[in-house]
Amino acid sequence: MAAYQLGIAGLKVLVLEAGRRYDPQVETPMFNLPRQAPLRGAGSKEKPFGFYDATVDGGWEVPGEPYTTAPGSDFMWWRARMLGGRTNHWGRISLRMGEYDFKPKSRDGLGADWPISYADLAPYYDKTEMLVGVYGGDDDLENTPRSSPGVLMPPPRPRATELLARKACDPMGIPVIPAHLAIMTQRQDADTLPRKIHPDNPLAQKVLAESMRQRQACFWATPCGNGCSIRANFQSTTVLIPPALATGNVDIIPDAMVREVTVDNTGKATGVSYVDKRTRTDHHVQARVVVLAASAAETARILLNSRSNQFPNGLSNSSGLVGKYLMDTVGAGIGGQIPALENTPPHNQDGASGMHMYMPWWLYKEQKRGKLGFARGYHIEFGGGRSMPGSGAFGGLGNLTEGAYGKKYKEAARRYYGSWMWFDGRGEMIPNEDCYCELDPDVVDQWGIPVLRFHWKFSDHETRQAAHMVKTFAQIIEQMGGKVNGKVETDGAKVIAKGGQIIHEVGTCRMGTSPRDSVLNEWCQSWDVKNLFVTDGAPFVSNADKNPTLSILALAWRTCDHIVGQLKTRSIG
Ligand SMILES: Cc1cc2nc3c(=O)[nH]c(=O)nc-3n(C[C@H](O)[C@H](O)[C@H](O)COP(=O)(O)OP(=O)(O)OC[C@H]3O[C@@H](n4cnc5c(N)ncnc54)[C@H](O)[C@@H]3O)c2cc1C
Ligand code: SF4
Repeated sequence: MAAYQLGIAGLKVLVLEAGRRYDPQVETPMFNLPRQAPLRGAGSKEKPFGFYDATVDGGWEVPGEPYTTAPGSDFMWWRARMLGGRTNHWGRISLRMGEYDFKPKSRDGLGADWPISYADLAPYYDKTEMLVGVYGGDDDLENTPRSSPGVLMPPPRPRATELLARKACDPMGIPVIPAHLAIMTQRQDADTLPRKIHPDNPLAQKVLAESMRQRQACFWATPCGNGCSIRANFQSTTVLIPPALATGNVDIIPDAMVREVTVDNTGKATGVSYVDKRTRTDHHVQARVVVLAASAAETARILLNSRSNQFPNGLSNSSGLVGKYLMDTVGAGIGGQIPALENTPPHNQDGASGMHMYMPWWLYKEQKRGKLGFARGYHIEFGGGRSMPGSGAFGGLGNLTEGAYGKKYKEAARRYYGSWMWFDGRGEMIPNEDCYCELDPDVVDQWGIPVLRFHWKFSDHETRQAAHMVKTFAQIIEQMGGKVNGKVETDGAKVIAKGGQIIHEVGTCRMGTSPRDSVLNEWCQSWDVKNLFVTDGAPFVSNADKNPTLSILALAWRTCDHIVGQLKTRSIG
C-alpha cells in the first residue's frame, strides 16, 4: 500500500523485498485439481496450506532463517518470503474495527487506547474498500460499522449451510449477516471510481483505471488461497503493485533482506542496509524517508538490529517498547455433523473460498454487566458443505458407517458428503507484558542477522473466551440438530490456538500520544526518528476480533498521506 500511495504522489520509491518476485497472472495454479497433486493436495511441511497454496517461499519454517521461543513459551510465526507477502494467500476476510475497538481501555480499563478513533480511519476504510474491492452487507450492528453507501460490492448469496446456521442462531440471539471479503462480485467501475478515490490526482486516476480494467469479477470456482490470476480478489501483487509500477516512480529489488536502518549523527534515518540473497553481499541504499512494512514482528526485528552508538538498544526504542505488546487473535473451533444436510442434492455451492455469512460479536451488554468472566468479544467464522473434495474431505466418515466397505461405504460417502460443518472463533486478545519479542543473543540467521526470540503467555481473559467459543459452537450445532465431533472441552487453555497460530500478529511498535509509552505517534511516525514510519501491523495498540489486514491497509494509506504532507512542508526529508 505504501509503495502505491507514495508512487502516485510522485515520490521516487524503492521497495526492498526479502522474497522473490511473484506474478499471480503467470504462476497461479488456480485451475489445478486436488487429484493432480501428490496426496490429493494435502498440506506438507513445505506447503502447510496445501500443495497448490500460493505461498512460494515461506510457511511456519523458513529454511536458514530460524526464530526461537523462550522456555515455557509456545509461539508459531508464519512468514512469507515473496513479493506481496502473505496477501497472496490470506483468507481475505476484511472487517472494519468499530468505535469501541479504538478505545478499549476507556471502556473496561484494560490494555490501552489508540491515539486515533474510528472517525479518523473511517474515510480510509471507505477508500481502501473501493480500491481493493470488498463484498459485504450494510448491516449496522453495535461496534460493527457499515461502509458508506456505494462502497461495498453486493455479497454473494448464502449457502445452504449458512441458511441453516442462521435458522438455528435466530432463536439464540446470534446475528448471522453477510461477511466482508476482499473478493469482487462485480467488476469495478473504472470510469468513475478512480476519480472518487483520488479526486485531485490525474496520475493516480490513470494508473488505477488501467489496473481496474484488467480485473475481472469472481467466477466462484477456484480456491482463492492458490492465488487469483484474473485479479478478482485482493493480493498486493495484482491490485497494488501493478498500478504502483505503472506510475514509473516505483522500483522493486527482490531477494533483498533488510538488515538495519542506518542513521546520521543527527539521528535522522539515511537509508537501509540489506543483503542481496543471490550474491550474499551487503549493500546500502539512501533514502529521505524510510518506511518499514516487513510484518509486525519482522519490523521490530529490523529496528532492534539497527543498533548504533546513538541508539544502543535499537532504533526508535527510547521507550524500550519495540517488540513489546505483541498480540495475536484468540482462536478456538469445533465441528459437527448435521443430519439435515445429508443427501443434499448435488448443486453448485462453490462461491468464495471462505464465508458468505458470519456472526459478529453479540454479547456486548452481557459483557458490560460482568456476566461472561472475560473482557472482549469474538466473531464466528463458519462453513461446510459440498466444496470440491480434496485430501481429508471424508475425514470422520468411518465414525458413521459402522464398518461398512465397498458399495455400502460409497453410498455412505454420498449420503454424508457435505453434512459436516465447522465453527471457528476469532477473538480479541488483550496486550500483556508477557507477550513480546526480542533479539536472541545467541542465534543468527544464514545472513548473520540476529533472530527473534518470542515470549508468550495468554491471560485468563483469552482462555475463558476460548472456552466460551466452543461451548457456544456446540450449542449452535445441537440447535441445528447435529452432533459435535468429539468431546466439548470446558478448559479454555486446552482449546485455545497457540500464540501466532491464527497468523494475525500485530503490536510490537505501538502508536500513542507520548514517546514515553509508545514507539510511534498517531501517524505511525517514529517519535525518535522523524523520517521513519511503519505501515504494517506493528503500530496496533489493541487487536480487536476483526481480522487485521483491512485496518493495516487503511492505516498505511493514512500514514502515507501524512508523509506526503510532511515532505511538502519540508518537515521531514
Ligand atoms: C493463511 C492465512 C490466512 C489469513 N487470513 C486473513 C484474513 O482472512 N483476514 C485478515 O485480515 N488477515 C488474514 N491473514 C493475515 C494477513 O495475511 C496479514 O495480516 C497481512 O498479510 C500482513 O501484512 P504485512 O504487510 O504486515 O506482512 P506480510 O504480508 O507478511 O508482508 C511482509 C513482507 O515483507 C517482506 N520482508 C520481511 N522481512 C523482510 C526483510 N528483513 N527485508 C525485506 N523484506 C522483508 C516479506 O517477504 C513480505 O513480502 C492471513 C494470513 C495467512 C497466512
Ligand atoms: S473464487 Fe474468485 S476470487 Fe477466488 S480465485 Fe477463484 S475467481 Fe479468484
